[in-house]
Amino acid sequence: MPGFELFGEAERLEVNDVLNNGVLMRYGFESQRQGHWKAKAMESELCQQLGVDHAQLLSSGTAAVTSALAVAGIGVGDEVIIPAFTFVASFEAVLMTGATPVLVDVDDTLTMSPRAVELAITSNTKAIMPVHMCGSMADLDALKSICRSRSLLLIEDACQAIGGLYKGQSLGTLGDMGCFSFDAVKTVTCGEGGAVVTNNLRFAELLDQYSDHGHDHLGSNRGTDEHPIIGYNFRISELNAAVGLAQARRLPEFLKLQKEHYATLRSALTGIPGLTFRRVPEGGVESCAFLNFFLPSVEAARLVIHLFSEQSIDDCFHYLDNNWHFINKWDHLKNGHSAVGLNEFQIKGLAELKAQNFSRSNQWIGRNISCLIRIGWTKSEVEQRAATMASIIRKVL
Ligand SMILES: *Cc1c(COP(=O)(O)O)cnc(C)c1O
Repeated sequence: MPGFELFGEAERLEVNDVLNNGVLMRYGFESQRQGHWKAKAMESELCQQLGVDHAQLLSSGTAAVTSALAVAGIGVGDEVIIPAFTFVASFEAVLMTGATPVLVDVDDTLTMSPRAVELAITSNTKAIMPVHMCGSMADLDALKSICRSRSLLLIEDACQAIGGLYKGQSLGTLGDMGCFSFDAVKTVTCGEGGAVVTNNLRFAELLDQYSDHGHDHLGSNRGTDEHPIIGYNFRISELNAAVGLAQARRLPEFLKLQKEHYATLRSALTGIPGLTFRRVPEGGVESCAFLNFFLPSVEAARLVIHLFSEQSIDDCFHYLDNNWHFINKWDHLKNGHSAVGLNEFQIKGLAELKAQNFSRSNQWIGRNISCLIRIGWTKSEVEQRAATMASIIRKVL
């Protein structure tokens, strides 16, 4: 997770450009900014690296998911299908648009099961939002074919999987829109930031307007801009974008290190009887931000995690008992504890959610251990870590 590991000369140089001209806003102030457009430059960098036509940089990944749903026209009474294993931002964004989140089970890919998605579709379903958790992807061909046959939108949450590929295309670019986060614990960071990418020009225009109070950005004077739609402020500042620009340029370097360290850990664990790796859909290439594996039982997973932390193998997670990533601990959602009033569809949907059985997901999440890959490890540190992990797991199994 280079995001919080690496802040160096390249990042400082970009930030200093902004400090020197004093233009902290991404729009306007053309005479003062001495040619520096950090948000726009990072957007171009993302388009080029991911192979996509448009990118809109925003204030966070949560803002990105919210904006993508909003410009897709999703609102009150609509249902959006999301996985039960994700980050809380998934349901927060759906609720923010007024729509109702419908949660479905995950399978051995640790992402939404296409079969569970099919069973959850109703006449109110508008979009399917797979979340490519921990560096690997949902079965996108299966989900695309469901979306095609049921006329639904596919919005990818690729916040945890930048740099991963599916059948040669970058994750985030296979659906109608794809979302990224650049918060401090992602592969690329802005400090705080996010982006929506798309090949759809209409969505791109709406994203640019929606995230800046509906401004059309057609003239050079904000005061005379038209407002084709009602928008909000989900803009990123130039300071944050400057950090992200430097980081995004280094993405290939980050991915290479992630892959090397992932390979070392994986090969040490390969062949341990009872240990299996997460399934990657055919044609998928992980970003290698995490290494994920399954143990034969929940008890074995709990014990391994306990022994890992005793031996200072940190940054490994057992998500079953985790407040951020799995339905089990989301009582605030199931009980509808919202600061803003929920609408009748949301209240009904959350009551159904509270009664829903997620034992299928429990099976996978309960047996899963997810290890974050640091890029700052030296070769010998990774090798030592791999050997310690393998010896602990062999002892437990
Ligand atoms: C981090 C993350 C987000 C939200 O990003 P923020 O920038 O922290 O708002 C959304 N979805 C997933 C899967 C994430 O991991």
